[in-house]
Amino acid sequence: FFFTPKTAYEISACLVGSEMCIRDRSKYIWFNGKFVPWDNAKTHVLSHGLHYGSGIFEGIRAYSDKDKNAYIFRLHDHYKRFFDSAKVSLIKVPYSKKQLEKATIDLIKKNKLKDCYIRPLAFIGDGSIGINPGKNRINIIIAAFEWGTYLGKNGISKGIRAKISSFSRMGVNSFMTKSKISGNYINSVFAKREAIDLGYDEALMLDNDGYISEGTGENIYIVRNGTIKTTPITTVLEGITRDCVLSIASDNGIKVKEQRFTRDELYIADEVFLSGTAAEITPVREVDNRKIGDGKPGKITKLIQNEYSNLVKASNKKYYKWLTKV
Ligand code: PMP
Repeated sequence: FFFTPKTAYEISACLVGSEMCIRDRSKYIWFNGKFVPWDNAKTHVLSHGLHYGSGIFEGIRAYSDKDKNAYIFRLHDHYKRFFDSAKVSLIKVPYSKKQLEKATIDLIKKNKLKDCYIRPLAFIGDGSIGINPGKNRINIIIAAFEWGTYLGKNGISKGIRAKISSFSRMGVNSFMTKSKISGNYINSVFAKREAIDLGYDEALMLDNDGYISEGTGENIYIVRNGTIKTTPITTVLEGITRDCVLSIASDNGIKVKEQRFTRDELYIADEVFLSGTAAEITPVREVDNRKIGDGKPGKITKLIQNEYSNLVKASNKKYYKWLTKV
């Protein structure tokens, strides 16, 4: 909070609003098998991944319980998806899932972190600069740092204002929507920047048929007459938080339909919320200047939000299976 940026780099890194600020940096980044000081985790400017987006990544969070023990949330599921993304992208990760999971735990310990965000990334390195990466080295990094609420504290408690983007969600035969491929995210970057420039907090994208697909980094849900509707996974990322939402809903006897819905169905919903590792459970209070329900987070949204926040912090025995103690 009292951080004063000194260098131009520090100042520019602090100008990104609610996004990660340099003051959140930690001591070490795991880089190709070694713990490297944050400032030394550098790569070649001719890295294939930098030019063509040929990388895959994950976003994971760790939380602490009331006794200040840290737990990584759904570590195995995130690395399962990491290796699935690698398979889709023909990226051969030169470490096993077990090795990367251990490296993640060691990194959190070494950085003395508890509640944090974890970003593993595999990207094609330098060598061939042509589209075909040939035998370029695959680089792996894992970073872990403190990162507060992604869409702001007010967003979590009062809900955010969203806008339907003028950018459609990328098509399933052009980009692989089941994978967190770096290059895919330019679609989200365009949509997010447009929404922010227009004074909104988040963009919601339509699929190529004009139905609601997802946010720039979140799955989406509407609630009408006590039933939740969420986009089927066909065109969107198989969110790990989405899977938690479905379990929480089932535990609480709330009906969920995995069914496409239209923009106007979203406008007239009683409640709308988003889910994602970074965004957690974020209510949406307004879409395209139309108030959702009474403009406040709804009953079902709050229930899901509350249950999710309890289970990530190890307060629900049923879901201990999703936690990995650091
Ligand atoms: N959709 C997109 C496009 C995302 O980037 C994310 C964030 N990973 C999600 C949905 C939510 O996925 P998860 O709950 O696994 O974080």
